[in-house]
Amino acid sequence: MALMTGEQYIESIRKISMEIYMFGKRVENPVDDPILRPSLNSVRMTYDLAQKPEYQDLMTVISPETGERINRFTHIHRSTEDLRNKVKMQRLLGQQTAACFQRCVGMDAFNAVYSTTFEIDKKYGSCYHDNFKKFMFYCQKNDLTVDGAMTDPKGDRSKAPHEQSDPDMFLRVVERRADGIVVCGAKAHQTGIINSHEVIVMPTIAMGPEDKDYAVSFAVPSDASGLFMIIGRQSCDTRKLEGSEIDVGNSEFGGVEALIVFDHVFVPNDRIFLNGETEFAGMLVERFAGYHRQSYGGCKVGVGDVLIGAAAVAADYNGVAKASHIKDKLIEMTHLNETLYCCGIACSAEGHQTASGNYMIDLLLANVCKQNVTRFPYEIVRLAEDIAGGLVVTAPSEADLRDPKLGPVINKYFRGINNVSTENRMRILRLIENLALGSAAVGYRTESMHGAGSPQAQRIMIARQCNLEHKKTLAKNIAHIKE
Ligand code: SF4
Ligand code: FE
Repeated sequence: MALMTGEQYIESIRKISMEIYMFGKRVENPVDDPILRPSLNSVRMTYDLAQKPEYQDLMTVISPETGERINRFTHIHRSTEDLRNKVKMQRLLGQQTAACFQRCVGMDAFNAVYSTTFEIDKKYGSCYHDNFKKFMFYCQKNDLTVDGAMTDPKGDRSKAPHEQSDPDMFLRVVERRADGIVVCGAKAHQTGIINSHEVIVMPTIAMGPEDKDYAVSFAVPSDASGLFMIIGRQSCDTRKLEGSEIDVGNSEFGGVEALIVFDHVFVPNDRIFLNGETEFAGMLVERFAGYHRQSYGGCKVGVGDVLIGAAAVAADYNGVAKASHIKDKLIEMTHLNETLYCCGIACSAEGHQTASGNYMIDLLLANVCKQNVTRFPYEIVRLAEDIAGGLVVTAPSEADLRDPKLGPVINKYFRGINNVSTENRMRILRLIENLALGSAAVGYRTESMHGAGSPQAQRIMIARQCNLEHKKTLAKNIAHIKE
């Protein structure tokens, strides 16, 4: 089997008995849970689009190793064209879901672990690269979704992993056995975990020799013994229980974050990709973060396309589409959104080959991309709210619209232009609410700030990559300074 259909994917997740908790209770049937299902539907789109002939070149590739057609989300980038196509694929999926479709973290982990394990093996003669390739082929062959788990809870941010008063603040090895390792700890903010077949764990920061037990990377199935998840609440999440399609804004798609707890999880030797080689923790983090910062130049742009479209529709419905300031605001939103896309494409086009043979993005440009993402979606949301008007946050419920007494009143007073129904006007305003303030705001707004690393993390990388000394030399040359 190479490619799964969307339906096969859903059924494959149904078969996995994950230990998931929400509102203090175990979720017995996450696949059909109304709060969780939209997030599963978003990942499903990565399978559905791969089946469509018009998207085949973007969504799939022929594996250079096996000659089989595989989903791009399980692919190792072999060229700068692959890197650009990745960003284009993510924009497409953002447009189709208006949510986080989650599967990119696995793809980014694949590519970071692939090149890093190659370099560890070269230094130590270990077999991490072969371990990883075996795991990768298994995922490609079965078209699996893989979560990439990096973010540790981190406790006291001023302290290294081994200095924390609670040693579990960073995920660590607690036992080394002949057949593998046992790990304890947690990974936070994991959007894709409950919709993934497997999870790749990576360290979250560069480490020193005393952090040996924390420098660990591996893969386990999402139903591994000792592994469980606690779902995070989102703004307006229980609206999904009310049965209203309009009030949730985006009734079909979403994303859901969870804390993954590893309570003495066993990892067999052939699933280990890093185990104590502390000097490679930083390389793995830098590469994964770089790829995921590139990713945001695709996915957030696609969601931005939907938000710009929604603002333009709201303007049409309000009868203000011809006002020059509205046109200018839509131009500004587009300018900001396309600037993000430029960064995603640029860091891909300027990519280079690593020692392992796969392709890495330009790290400076990828970090500039993500730094812009921490700002521009906020301005795009501000302009969308400006255009849409206050009804985004004051509109009555769908139940009121359907009520025999209240419905006609709502229809009368919340109508915009004559030939558009009040219901359609409410639908587009609820979509804007969803993207700006509702559950999709996690994926579009706050994730733009903190996903793939908070702004300061990019600034550190920009400082490291910007080659200030070279710039100083340029200035001194022009000014004819001889020291
Ligand atoms: Fe993919 Fe974007 Fe979600 Fe990351 S935030 S997993 S890049 S959709
Ligand atoms: Fe993300």
